[in-house]
Amino acid sequence: MPVYEYYCEPCDGVFETIRMMKESGEPAPCPECEGAAERIMPTSFSAFVMRGGYPRRLPDRGTYWHLGKEVKEKPRGVAPNEHQELIKPRPKPALSKGEKAARRDWTRDERARTQRLKKEVKPGERPPAAPRRPKLR
Ligand SMILES: [Zn+2]
Repeated sequence: MPVYEYYCEPCDGVFETIRMMKESGEPAPCPECEGAAERIMPTSFSAFVMRGGYPRRLPDRGTYWHLGKEVKEKPRGVAPNEHQELIKPRPKPALSKGEKAARRDWTRDERARTQRLKKEVKPGERPPAAPRRPKLR
């Protein structure tokens, strides 16, 4: 038998119940208050998520339900339809020791070259071509 999702308004929570397909449209008893909970239709899910507070998961394990995924906290400070626990981290690849050293050396050499040019190059004179910056990823 398929699993259907229901929303209990007094509890402001979501729960799943296995039911016969022909019964799926009828309200299901809430596991907390035993009140009649309406089935969540896939098309109304986004409207449901945005309504009032934020739906919890029933039975209440202290978690919330966000776009079909269980999360520990209410969403905060992230884009609509995103949740801080569901955003995939995109860490920048760390530079290797050699790359860091190359970048540091280049910065130091470039600074020294600029200092030298300020003293050596006279107005109207073309400064020598700059060395290429080492290619880093
Ligand atoms: Zn309830």
